[in-house]
Amino acid sequence: MKHRDILIHGAQVFDGTQIGGPADVHVSGGMITAIAPAGSIDPNTFDGLAVSGEGLLLSPGFTDLHCHLRDPGQTWKEDIRTGTAAAAAGGYTTVVCMPNTDPPVDRGPVADYIRDRAARVGYCRVSPSGCLSLNRRGEALADLAALYSAGVRIYTDDGSDTLRSDVFMHAFEFLSMLPGSRALIHTEVVELARGVMHEGLVSAMLGQGGIDYLSEDLGTARTVLMAIQTGMAVQVTHMASRGALELVRFGKLREQQEGMPGLVTCDVTHNHLILTDRAIEKYGTQAKINPPLREERDRQALLCGIADGTIDALVTDHAPHTVDEKSQELKLAPFGFSGFETSFGLLGKHVVGSSTAAGEITLEQVLRLMTSGPADILNGRREGWRRGRIPQMTTEAMRDFLPRPVQFSGGRIAAGEVADLVLLDTQASWQVDPKQFTSKGKNTPFTGWDCRGRAMLTICGGRVTHSRMDGIEREEAADGTA
Ligand SMILES: [Zn+2]
Repeated sequence: MKHRDILIHGAQVFDGTQIGGPADVHVSGGMITAIAPAGSIDPNTFDGLAVSGEGLLLSPGFTDLHCHLRDPGQTWKEDIRTGTAAAAAGGYTTVVCMPNTDPPVDRGPVADYIRDRAARVGYCRVSPSGCLSLNRRGEALADLAALYSAGVRIYTDDGSDTLRSDVFMHAFEFLSMLPGSRALIHTEVVELARGVMHEGLVSAMLGQGGIDYLSEDLGTARTVLMAIQTGMAVQVTHMASRGALELVRFGKLREQQEGMPGLVTCDVTHNHLILTDRAIEKYGTQAKINPPLREERDRQALLCGIADGTIDALVTDHAPHTVDEKSQELKLAPFGFSGFETSFGLLGKHVVGSSTAAGEITLEQVLRLMTSGPADILNGRREGWRRGRIPQMTTEAMRDFLPRPVQFSGGRIAAGEVADLVLLDTQASWQVDPKQFTSKGKNTPFTGWDCRGRAMLTICGGRVTHSRMDGIEREEAADGTA
């Protein structure tokens, strides 16, 4: 689809690294074509959509490496159309959806379905992740080669960790030959993760089954050691414990010693940066997530990991469910809640400005972890070792795979980058009201919480995918039918 030219004039520009002064940004043919000093292009004579960015901050569109779109198979919770519309409303232009759908994404055609449907009815780029094991059972390998051909770059059995360590290792050995692939691991020892919340004082007081630190920390140790052993790039996702963070630090030390920079990356959700297990007392099932919200010392450690640069990305773990599903008793209610539409505002109010042992967390740091940080991981730009150490598939052999070309947000504002952008009002004060969510999932423990900062306009590939600005309408997908 062809899109009109766009001029965003007078906004301050965060280019993916730092916040600079005001500029005029010109978009044509879905690409950023020029960045000029503010005032150099006259909006009145501009042939196309001229947007005033006065008082606003223009950022690369956000990339989320961990969300659930529930499509195929659980479309009463969410579908690709509503999920991507919610993502666009939160400022996202690329999302990686988890493979625990029905059927799971353990073979090529399921990944094809998600990509094709997103291209027809979606509001952002969707990179489906593929399973590591068939049916996520941890007993046999998923069809990893076919998934790679279908454009899959992130591999995970998310929803849980992979049960058997030998299957896990064989998956890593195979994937390590495929350039740009990364395993994203929900680290846990499955048999130690049968509880409903963090095991500690609060779970004892509430009489609820706990999920001990050991489950997450042992799982993280397995993932980090397996990465070092096989040379397979991994991302430890949605870390909740300080132990997991320390084990990732060990992995990052080792990757330097072994000459494999970028081997081990990690992410955290805003939920684990803001809440602790005390939230279960107050919000009940609304705060039930996996891995569970842990203790204040864990939260402080994770905040410190943001400030000192250990953490490579922020993710939403957007996990929509119906109100009925979440209204069951704590034991029966599913894990997770919606996140796309609240992440930036909650981070702006409750994380930016936090003081940690490694200094104060800045808006720039948070923005990097939502743009260039995750985009570099998804685009394979973090791999500093593959050529040389690990035998790669030769170009000849790759021809048999015929890997599908993939295009994700670049996480940067520069001439020649795809025009995936979000215009932010970083001072906007508002309160979370799930009734206003675009997502089908109306569950969140943050109802009524104060936010600071909001996506006013989201542009993906030169198309307006979300707008809160007067006189600018969202442009529908190529095939507007749901
Ligand atoms: Zn998970």
